[in-house]
Amino acid sequence: MKKIFLGPPGSGKGTYSSRISSFWKIPHISTGDLFRAHLKNQTEIGKQIKEFMNSGNLVPDTITIEMLKNRISQNDCKKGFILDGFPRTIPQAEELAKITDIDVVINLNLSNEILIKKACARRVCQDCGDIYSTIEINQGEIKMPGMFPKEEGKCDKCHGELMQRKDDNEATVKERLETFKNQTAPLIDFYKNNGLLKDIQVKYNPTKMVSEILQAIKSLAEKYELSIDYEK
Ligand code: ADP
Ligand code: ZN
Repeated sequence: MKKIFLGPPGSGKGTYSSRISSFWKIPHISTGDLFRAHLKNQTEIGKQIKEFMNSGNLVPDTITIEMLKNRISQNDCKKGFILDGFPRTIPQAEELAKITDIDVVINLNLSNEILIKKACARRVCQDCGDIYSTIEINQGEIKMPGMFPKEEGKCDKCHGELMQRKDDNEATVKERLETFKNQTAPLIDFYKNNGLLKDIQVKYNPTKMVSEILQAIKSLAEKYELSIDYEK
């Protein structure tokens, strides 16, 4: 099963991808996480991408596509994978289509006002990447509880230190939303025209959202007669 999570910054791509990855036992590939690892390890790629990432702009397609191709050619991707944050431009989607078929695209929707609040309240474990949230959203039908760690500033899973990403501040989040609108949103029509896309409104806690997403994948799979193993 090859899936793509499409959605603006702060929409929950990382959280849902990581849960569905453990459910299906297929790798969760986040280009943002791969780039952050390059920054942390101060690699050659890390030096080339730093300015783009810190300013909320996209990393150039050539670097991104090359890195992604390397990742999905590895053995653990043979049974499928979940792409989180790739593709983000039409040329990226076209390159991806040349090397693999995609079964389902989940398109996450949430208002910019809530996205800004959520991105600024995000905390990430610097060791295992687990994601937490320091705010609760309760707005009309949108009811998203905070995802607080048991011990302040520490990851529940590995006890690593929780950090705020450098690009999770209001000004950079607004820049990333603009980038999303201009460069990534055209992918919604790109995949809609292929009949692969399922729109999901983000409203509830991750457990409820994940079950809605699994349901949506199932109905798309039935429609297109894809074979999917639902066993955990
Ligand atoms: P978010 O979806 O919250 O913006 P990500 O972790 O997916 O966060 O991405 C963080 C940054 O990494 C982006 O702002 C961009 O600079 C870079 N990046 C990630 N994926 C891509 C991609 N597919 N193409 C270009 N740049 C990317
Ligand atoms: Zn951790």
